[in-house]
Order: sequence, then C-alpha cells, then structure tokens
Amino acid sequence: MGKFLLGTNWKMNKTTAEGLAYTDGLTDIIPKFPEYQFFICSPYVQLWKQRELIDSKKSTLMLGAQNVHYEDCGQFTGEISPVMLKEIGLDLLEIGHSERRQYYNETDYTVNKKVLAGLKHGFTTLICVGDYMQEKEFGVSAEVLAKQIKIALHGVDEKDLDRVWIAYEPYWAIGVQGIPAEPEVVDSLHTMMRGVLVDLYGERGKDVPLLFGGSVNIKNAVAYAKCQDVNGLFIGRAAWHTDTFEEIMTALREAGIR
Ligand code: PEP
Repeated sequence: MGKFLLGTNWKMNKTTAEGLAYTDGLTDIIPKFPEYQFFICSPYVQLWKQRELIDSKKSTLMLGAQNVHYEDCGQFTGEISPVMLKEIGLDLLEIGHSERRQYYNETDYTVNKKVLAGLKHGFTTLICVGDYMQEKEFGVSAEVLAKQIKIALHGVDEKDLDRVWIAYEPYWAIGVQGIPAEPEVVDSLHTMMRGVLVDLYGERGKDVPLLFGGSVNIKNAVAYAKCQDVNGLFIGRAAWHTDTFEEIMTALREAGIR
C-alpha cells in the first residue's frame, strides 16, 4: 500500500480565483506532510489553470475532475470526455459520487463504463460507492457496496488495478444533512470491501486503496483513519479551507497515521 491518501472534492463550489488561491495555499502546506499523498477534485473550468499552478510549484498534489463521460467524443452536449481531460494532464478522475448517482441518473453500469474509459486513457480512477440510510437500516449495506464494487470493476484488468482507488461514502453521512458514521460501521464495511477485492483479484486486491468520506472533520478524522482497511480520507466541507484541512493533517500525524 502506498502513502495514506488525503483529498477533497469541492463539488460546485469555488470560483477559479478562489480555487487558485486555495491550490496555492495547499501546495505550500503539502511539503510539511510528506507522509501523505494529497489530491483535489475541482470544477472543470479551473483545471487548466490549476494544472499550470501545480506544475509551476513542482507540487506532488494530484489533480482530478469530479466527473467524466465514457466516450472519447460524440453527440453528448455539455459533457466532457476523457480525451479532453487527458489533454489537461490530470492525474485522477472521480467517478460515481453519490450526488452524480442521485441527481444525474448515474448507475453502477455507467460508472463501470467511465472506469474502463478512465483506465484506458491512463488516469487513476477514484470510484465512489455508498449506501442509503434505508439500506443501512435494513442491514443490506454490505451487499449494496459489494454489488457496486463488482459492477464498477467489471472488465477491469488486474494490470490496471494500481490505478484504482475506492471511496466508501455513505449517502446518509455526506454533506450538510449528513450524520457522521460510527467508526465501527466504517471498520466493518471496509473489511468487507477488502474481502470483495481479494475475491476478485486475489492478493492484488489488498493493494487497492480504500478511502472513507462523509462528514469527516477534526473531531472524527483520526477515528476513521484508524479503522481497518481505511487507507485514506476523502473530505468535503472540512477540507475546503486550507487551515481546517491542515488541522486534520496535524491531528492524523500526531496519531501516527501514515
Ligand atoms: C463528499 O461529498 O464527498 C463529502 C465527503 O462531503 P462532506 O465531507 O462535506 O460530508
């Protein structure tokens, strides 16, 4: 397993000016925390400028888009293709975030197409999976996540597995209305997801980073990071300001997370 992963998805927040100021600040902080690999998933319109800024600062910060289409080009008004994102020189594609699934008809099957397209074009794919509260209450979260993972990875060759990351983000834990997950739930579901990956890919399945996200903040980040098979944190609101993000980094370091 590589470095512990720490990253953020801005959703539809931050203008380009705000995003560049944030990126500039984060690239100044990152050298203080060499034990972590950082990434950000930003709105499309600022990716070119961010790429230039990150490169000009010779930063290790990985840059990703929040979505992608699965075709290289075609009659898909308003969509952005992996070829276009490749031209920017992005590192990462976030695929299947819960908001894409809930509001934009993204299904396990379109997620799979996007994963295959992203891998074909050389990206690392950050696949988001999650369960609804009702599924949690009915005790079927494990089945739901296993199904999402198996479909997302259908046809993914073992040789591409080093460019697959999976984030468990319970739908009920995400965003302003989110209820933070109990660390025991995270622990048990991450262990289960690891088992699914090992069933699919044998020993290689142990190398796929599993991230957790959903109302992660300074109070709970360490507890989540200490869970079995949590190899990174995918943070929304608490990482949208570099100072609160840095507080989390410091807390993780003090807890010995690497
Ligand atoms: C997210 O939307 O992916 C997320 C983790 O958000 P938050 O941390 O704000 O709940």
